[in-house]
Amino acid sequence: MSETHHYLIAIGSNVRHPKVGNPRAVVRFTIAALEDAGLYFEAASSIVDSRPVGPSRRAYANAVVRVKTDLEPERLLRLLQDIESSAGRVRRGQPWRARVLDLDIILWDGGAYSSPDLQIPHPLFRERDFVLHPAAQIAPGWRDPVTGRTLRQLAARR
Ligand code: ATP
Ligand code: CA
Ligand code: CA
Repeated sequence: MSETHHYLIAIGSNVRHPKVGNPRAVVRFTIAALEDAGLYFEAASSIVDSRPVGPSRRAYANAVVRVKTDLEPERLLRLLQDIESSAGRVRRGQPWRARVLDLDIILWDGGAYSSPDLQIPHPLFRERDFVLHPAAQIAPGWRDPVTGRTLRQLAARR
């Protein structure tokens, strides 16, 4: 029998999709795509967006969703990579950091997980306000297994 898991997934976009529209629209569209892919949707943060700044002149949109699924971490990662590809993300040949869609697994309820392809918690989530703040919005009581702190505590320190 398979077990049920809860995950936090970060959604990011900084390139316009030719059909879906600007990064904010891509994030909204992706939330629907995750549900269509069979993940049971529990909560979505608000969408954090930033105006284009600096030489890249890119608009960013980010959000975090909380889902329930029987998928094990590696299977979920593959599903997320398929969704990235179908959104038009090419893993090679794109300018660094420019992507229609980036889906990262931030935390799950199974503690720390590490394999050559996947680390949970995501190693940089504590340093990224655009991940930490939306994550704390929808899962304030979840605990980071590495620091032992809740998301509410981690977000309050920044
Ligand atoms: P960053 O990790 O700084 O957010 P990125 O999202 O731009 O970087 P990608 O090119 O999307 O990096 O992914 C590189 C690899 O990271 C993926 O092929 C995947 O195997 C690996 N990876 C490790 N941990 C995770 C995780 N928690 N969620 C998603 N991918 C992960
Ligand atoms: Ca990322
Ligand atoms: Ca990624």
